[in-house]
Amino acid sequence: MSAVLKVAVDGAHPYAISIGADLLDDGVLLAATIRGRHALIVSDSNVAPLYADRVQAALQAVRPDLTIARLVIPPGEHEKTLQRFGEVLDALAGLSATRDAAVIALGGGVIGDLAGFAGACWMRGIDVVQIPTTLLAMVDSSVGGKTAVDLPAGKNLVGAFHPPRAVIADTSVLHTLPDRELRAGLAEVVKYGVTAVSLDPADAGFLDWLEAHAEALLAREPAITAEAIARCCAFKAAVVGRDLLEHGDRALLNFGHTFGHAIEVEQGYAGTHGGGLNHGEAVAVGMVLAMRLSAALGLAPASAGDRLQRLLQRLELPTSIPEGLAPDALLTRMRLDKKADAAGIRFILADGAGRARVVPGVEEATVLAV
Ligand code: NAD
Ligand code: ZN
Repeated sequence: MSAVLKVAVDGAHPYAISIGADLLDDGVLLAATIRGRHALIVSDSNVAPLYADRVQAALQAVRPDLTIARLVIPPGEHEKTLQRFGEVLDALAGLSATRDAAVIALGGGVIGDLAGFAGACWMRGIDVVQIPTTLLAMVDSSVGGKTAVDLPAGKNLVGAFHPPRAVIADTSVLHTLPDRELRAGLAEVVKYGVTAVSLDPADAGFLDWLEAHAEALLAREPAITAEAIARCCAFKAAVVGRDLLEHGDRALLNFGHTFGHAIEVEQGYAGTHGGGLNHGEAVAVGMVLAMRLSAALGLAPASAGDRLQRLLQRLELPTSIPEGLAPDALLTRMRLDKKADAAGIRFILADGAGRARVVPGVEEATVLAV
């Protein structure tokens, strides 16, 4: 299955999300996204040895005049820093990149967010081509133009909205993705299920579909995986198209993230590589907590938390706060999250049947009880 979706945002350049097998070798598709004579491929040391030569060769075959440089950084959330951001800018300077240059982000969400933010800032913004290589990046981070790096004080605290020039999701690269990273992506897929009715009433049954296909998704069944990616991208394209800057319902995509980010920060962004939870796993735990909070506030039946927990467990994701993390320390982190304001902590809460909404000023005692 292959698909091309369009993201049309008011006042911004519309862009295409191409989804299909072996797109990395499609030089014509790749070259069509590059306007100038310079491109910088940013990748990590797991992904670059597997795929960077293919991307570069395919591009160069169609555009022999293109000067392509490469920056490869170590993998992991721990690297989504201002320091690495500076390295991307230095690489662009080394390439003498002009305003029509392109940054090609080849990797997971860490690379996409980091390279995307550098592309947003170099000469006040150049083209960014997202080539996501994790399931998480294909269904979520590569689409929508949110870019950022982390600070020790909090996740994604420095960043920019900078829609990509194009998103090219080659589903065949998922063959080399470690199981644990596949499951992390499935956590964000489940997030669309929990919010589906609010995102697109016409595609309301996504949570039921996920329950029916959980094992097929875990087994990487190609047609089911491609369908999940296309449906998630369609949800995201629609919501981003009507709310690029997250003044409205785009915020629903943060379901589970207030708790999840607190876990990630409190673990010092240890992630997969440092013995902690990765982003998707932290979001899985966060979604269960958010659903329990929704029930505690009378917005969802208690059974909704159980249903969500069962699905996440079938997907072999964690569903409770890791040992050693104190609830009050997490609460302190949540106060610093971008979703907090003077009135208290804002949560995205759900009804368990696909509807979600933003609830500001939730009392801290209720959060702690959950
Ligand atoms: P990641 O980029 O760290 O990738 C996970 C691991 O998989 C890394 O070790 C990477 O080297 C490896 N890898 C990637 N592709 C591979 C492949 N095809 N084969 C083998 N190994 C591969 O993590 P992620 O889960 O993709 O992204 C998480 C990040 O995304 C977080 O920082 C999160 O905040 C961000 N995010 C951003 C948005 C957004 O809208 N911008 C949305 C969701 C998540
Ligand atoms: Zn996320």
